[in-house]
Amino acid sequence: MTADVTLAQIAGEVAVCQKCGLHTSRKHSVPGEGPATSEIMLIGEGPGFNENEQGRPFVGAAGKFLDELLAQAGLKRTDVWIGNVVKCRPPENRDPQADELAACNVYLERQIAAIDPKIIITLGRFSMGKFMPGVKISQVHGQMRRVGDRFVIAMFHPAAALHQAALKPSILADFAKLPQLLEQARTALAKSSPAAAKAKALQEEEPKQMKLF
Ligand code: URA
Ligand code: SF4
Repeated sequence: MTADVTLAQIAGEVAVCQKCGLHTSRKHSVPGEGPATSEIMLIGEGPGFNENEQGRPFVGAAGKFLDELLAQAGLKRTDVWIGNVVKCRPPENRDPQADELAACNVYLERQIAAIDPKIIITLGRFSMGKFMPGVKISQVHGQMRRVGDRFVIAMFHPAAALHQAALKPSILADFAKLPQLLEQARTALAKSSPAAAKAKALQEEEPKQMKLF
């Protein structure tokens, strides 16, 4: 199955999902959107009012600011995949609960596996907590860390930066570093890819074979 088809299938399952209580109050589920070939996935918290109305991620005030942040990195919204840790809106925008995060996690895991991005950018503490448990955003924001087969960068949540003026220069500067970090991630992952490992093994084998003759 191609990544596109897998993502569409996941969106179809999410639309009728009843695995947690959030399904009772949803108008539209918000599975996430963007190219299946994205090198970067941005993962927020959960749909708010506007997202629940439209079925699309980050379409309210925070989304407008996110467009500005992406522009700092020379990126457009259509260059990246954008989603959330929970796909249905928590009532009154309350924090997602542990059981809801756990129930919804399987969809995000499948989306990550299908897209296989080089970088995951976490927006907000619930997304950060999934990839870097126990860290403090004030200490790690904007830094890239290897997590398994890819890299993770924790960023402040755009909505937090909108409401706390002091965070704004910080989040703008973090996004401005993204092109450079993406280049680093590409280089590091190319070196550790299965194809690169095979090429290296062949190179090392050649001198040994030469000696036989
Ligand atoms: N905030 C989020 O975390 N996600 C959205 O989709 C919108 C606002
Ligand atoms: Fe299903 Fe996730 Fe929606 Fe809960 S939030 S009903 S687990 S799609």
